[in-house]
Parts: sequence; C-alpha cells; structure tokens
Amino acid sequence: MTKRDYYEILGVPRSASADDLKKAYRKLAVKYHPDKNPGDKAAEEQFKELSHAYEILSDPQKRSAYDQYGHAAFDPRARGGGGRGGNAGFHDPFDIFRDVFGGNTGDIFEGIFGGGGRQDPTAPQRGSDLRYDLEIEFEEAAHGCEKEISVTKAESCETCHGSGAAPGAKRRACTNCGGRGQVISSRGIFSVAQTCGQCHGAGQIIEKPCPTCHGHGRCEKKSQIKLRIPAGVDTGSRLRSAGNGEGGVRGGPSGDLYVVLHVRAHDIFQRDGDDLLCEVPISFTQAALGAEMQVPTLTGQATIKVPAGTQPGTVFRLKGKGVKNVQGYGNGDLHVRLTVEVPTRLSHEQKAKLEEFAKLCDGTENPASQSFFEKARRFFK
Ligand SMILES: [Zn+2]
Ligand SMILES: [Zn+2]
Repeated sequence: MTKRDYYEILGVPRSASADDLKKAYRKLAVKYHPDKNPGDKAAEEQFKELSHAYEILSDPQKRSAYDQYGHAAFDPRARGGGGRGGNAGFHDPFDIFRDVFGGNTGDIFEGIFGGGGRQDPTAPQRGSDLRYDLEIEFEEAAHGCEKEISVTKAESCETCHGSGAAPGAKRRACTNCGGRGQVISSRGIFSVAQTCGQCHGAGQIIEKPCPTCHGHGRCEKKSQIKLRIPAGVDTGSRLRSAGNGEGGVRGGPSGDLYVVLHVRAHDIFQRDGDDLLCEVPISFTQAALGAEMQVPTLTGQATIKVPAGTQPGTVFRLKGKGVKNVQGYGNGDLHVRLTVEVPTRLSHEQKAKLEEFAKLCDGTENPASQSFFEKARRFFK
C-alpha cells in the first residue's frame, strides 16, 4: 500500500508554518470527524490519516525526518542499510532510526477513539533520545578516532531508582483525576483527554517525594561519554550511542544518544565521498620539461611523474590513497590536480632568457593555441 504524502493530506505546501499546519488540520478534522460522519468508514479512515499526518508534521523532529527521508523515516523495515540500495546520500551504517522517534507525542486527540495506544501513566517509560552535534577534524574523520564528550542530561535518580518517592514513602491515587492520569474536557465538538495537571499523568501522588530528585524521578547530571568514531565518516554521519540518552522514568530504559558529525575543512585536501582531491601547483618549466614531484597524501607522501608538456588541470589518480570507506568497502582514491603557476617575479636575467626563448618560438610548440587561432581567424579580419 502506498502512503499519501503528509503535506498533501493536509493540503498545505511543504513550506507551511506550524500555524498553517494547525489551521489546515483543524479545518479538515472538523470535516472528517467521526461525530459528524456517523457510520462513514471512508471519513473515519480519512480522519485517522489526517491525525497521523498532523502528528508527524507538528513535531519538528519528526517533520524534519519526514522531509529528509519520507515515509521511510518511520518504517521499521527501512532500518539499517539493507534494502535501501540506490538511495543516494544515505550512507549511514549506524541503524539510525531505531527507536529514535519512540516516546510520547502528546497529541491533543490522544484517546479520542477510546483506549488503544494510550500508555499506562504508571508504567515505566523509556527516556528520550538525544542529539549531540560534534565537530571533528578532517583527519579524525578519515582515520577514525576516539572522543569523549560531556553531556548534561536527565538521568534516573539513584536515590529512588526513578520512582520519585522517598525511601519507604507511600503513594495514593490522585484526587483530581481519580487515578486515571487524565482529565476529559470539552472543546467545541471534541472531547479532549488531557494529562492531569496535579499528578502529571502518573495517576498517583507520592506522599513524601524523594529528597534527591524532588519527586521527578530524574536529576540533571553531567556525564562523560566515550565515542568510537569509525574511519570514513563525513559531515552528516550519525552515530548511535545506545543507552546514553535521557534516563527512563519509573525504572524504564534510557533513550539513546545520537551524535551528528560535522567535519572541519582541510587546508589542502577536499573530500568527495571516499575520494580526495588535492590541487598541486607546479612551475611552468616543470610542466614544460617534465618532473618528478612529491605530493602529499593523508598518510605521508607519494611521487608522481609529470611528463613533459603536461597541461594545467591534468589529474593524476593515486589509487587507494583516498579515505577508507566507512562500511568497509575499501579505500577511495586521491586525485591530484595540477595547476600551472606562471612566474610573477622575474629577475632581469630570467626575463632576458625568456625573451630569447620567445624569439625561438614559431607557434608549433603550442598546438592548442595554434589550432584555436586557426579556427578563430575570421574574427580577426
Ligand atoms: Zn491526577
Ligand atoms: Zn529520586
């Protein structure tokens, strides 16, 4: 089954603001709401589709994932690299979508169809995933490296193990919501289930909160996280550091930490996938007479033989001297592109010799110029 585009469902352009989305959604939700279309299966389907599209697009993180990867962003079968062949630009071996969009959505229509999918507010809850942007050096990306980052995040409280209750403290049902964790209110034609403001959805009130976390079950903590960055990563590569996201609630597991890499530019190398490009200037005598040249590589140097009469822009390919492929498919190549430098500060003697050289030229030593001016002759009448 092919899924419709979320923007199309909401009838808004891709550039729509959060406000536009909300307006479009409200309008269509009223139109297709099951209360207004009793027994109309098609309307109900449309309403569900609409709610789903809005759920994705109203969440900035999900929206950006959808913009980037389309429906595949939320498709568990699209995990990892398998089956994504030919999807240019997706070279991420880190299983990036696993659980990244789990967790609560806080959608205002939550529970409108009565049950189904609503989490027990007293159940353990997984911590949120976190994103960390890390800048690394060009060589670190090419060779791989280890990094230690410092992240301040909510972690499960060690005193109460995330329960929020002081040791030995009792819990009682919340009087505001009667222990359901939600209160139902009416907004026009909608019945809206909202998280209870008194117990924040837990359904229970702790008589004596944990002194360490003041009943939140989590505390802000700074932690040092070691990352092993494989050789061959590039700007935009994402690494998943499992379990290093925010701590869970009520004993739930921690989320994951996603590290998004940004690679600094290099002085002499440019990167094109796994290939490297390096522009090397040579003198015009070297280009004319030929030369043996030392050129830099990522790991040291290499020698190239420049034949006599080499033209500017000539590229020498040094096989395997590029960057290691991050998925282990060998190495890229190093492309050395020669630029020819015209001398600018000539001594009297050098100038005299060059003038003497110029007098010896009859045009045949520059066949490209000769043929060009032959073809362009009619312009010079
Ligand atoms: Zn309550
Ligand atoms: Zn605590």
